[in-house]
Amino acid sequence: LKRNPNEPLFHQAVKEILDSLVPVLAKHPKYIKNNILERMVEPERAVFFRVPWVDDNGDIQVNRGFRIQFNSAIGPYKGGLRFHPSVDASTIKFLGFEQIFKNSLTGQPIGGGKGGSDFDPKGKSDMEVMRFAQSFMTELYRHIGPDIDVPAGDIGVGGREIGYMFGQYKRIRGGNEAGVLTGKGLLYGGSLTRTEATGYGCVYFVNEMLKWKGQSFEGRTVVVSGSGNVSIYAIEKAQQLGAKVIACSDSNGYIYDEDGIDLRTVKRLKEVERKRISEYVKEHRNAIYVEDCSGIWSLPCDIALPCATQNEIDEKAAALLVENGVIAVGEGANMPSTLEAIEVFLQGNVLFGPAKAANAGGVAVSALEMSQNSMRLAWSFEEVDAKLHAIMTNIFVRSMQAAEEYGHPGNLVVGANIAGFTKVADAMIAQGVI
Ligand code: NDP
Repeated sequence: LKRNPNEPLFHQAVKEILDSLVPVLAKHPKYIKNNILERMVEPERAVFFRVPWVDDNGDIQVNRGFRIQFNSAIGPYKGGLRFHPSVDASTIKFLGFEQIFKNSLTGQPIGGGKGGSDFDPKGKSDMEVMRFAQSFMTELYRHIGPDIDVPAGDIGVGGREIGYMFGQYKRIRGGNEAGVLTGKGLLYGGSLTRTEATGYGCVYFVNEMLKWKGQSFEGRTVVVSGSGNVSIYAIEKAQQLGAKVIACSDSNGYIYDEDGIDLRTVKRLKEVERKRISEYVKEHRNAIYVEDCSGIWSLPCDIALPCATQNEIDEKAAALLVENGVIAVGEGANMPSTLEAIEVFLQGNVLFGPAKAANAGGVAVSALEMSQNSMRLAWSFEEVDAKLHAIMTNIFVRSMQAAEEYGHPGNLVVGANIAGFTKVADAMIAQGVI
């Protein structure tokens, strides 16, 4: 705490991991002897940089850029870029730290990193976003590379932003290092299924939890927060599996549609027109809009998929969900539940899929994009989707096994943290004092 003052999100992420590791440290003194924990909480490298750009009025704006290269023990740093006004060092450090364990869980050779900026793409013109993205990459390019550090998207960074950054990277570096960024457009090295991967993967993971209890998505009522990349494809897959999704949101409020959300409308509003979710009710007269995004958790549902942002479910919201009979929660967003909320779910015997495990599908397909770029091949949608499905099932199985082995059967928080940790820790020990 002394070394990282004023970083509450980072402290929260570290506490969750460290609490889970108690049984591992007790069983394997090598991790203490090698001072693994103290090494792991210190990023290998962090860069903060100025991002100056010119807005449409000709005025010069300045934002702050970040890239944290947290851990490369098992492969090149890998993790998204977030563009959102709330981004600061604590945010990027918590995300980068979580990423180490998530990436390890996928079983692929990727280390952990994260980056972004306090730039807000909302309300900016395409040209403003492009000038910002180009300026951001003008500094970032010297820190990344296909075998060094491979950024992707996150909140506020989708296909448009990745495209502009990729274009700038190539102008500076020359050549065509497609594997330097993932989440690229399909016309220039992107992978099919990447857009869908985090949302689909989250639903595949929750489906494994439900199957374990002899249940399924069929006929279930689902609430999904957010209406961005992760939310939209979580809704799509849940609907494909026979669930009725009754609500989704953005940072202003939520919509409730008792007939089930019409995803075509949400996709058009969000992906094409970049409008607010409140516009939905103008086209669906039975639906209602409530100007309070956190109120979404007061809606009774069987399955809750928080897919917006960190700490969106607090203790009170979790208690309400449990009281209203929720049977499963799958974290599509990163750290969407507070530590107190997680405790409420675990005490309430809710099937709980923690972010590191449940939303690993995005980075898993990003790593498959890197593989395709290296091989100069493009796999079909079905091929990538099948691999994604297999990876999510494997994460569930490995997390369950670790939970069982270390005395917390069925606790996927403990299981995912331990399974993710041991691989990275053993790789660090094998490579000496790194
Ligand atoms: P998007 O930018 O596409 O969408 C984010 C959504 O969450 C929007 O609907 C946004 O609303 C809402 N939101 C953002 N901030 C807040 C807030 N403070 N309160 C309420 N709602 C908010 O991002 P993604 O869908 O890509 O990311 C969502 C979450 O999933 C993040 O936690 C991200 O780290 C995580 N994630 C994403 C992956 C990916 O592949 N994209 C991979 C793994 C995790 P508004 O438009 O009003 O801002």
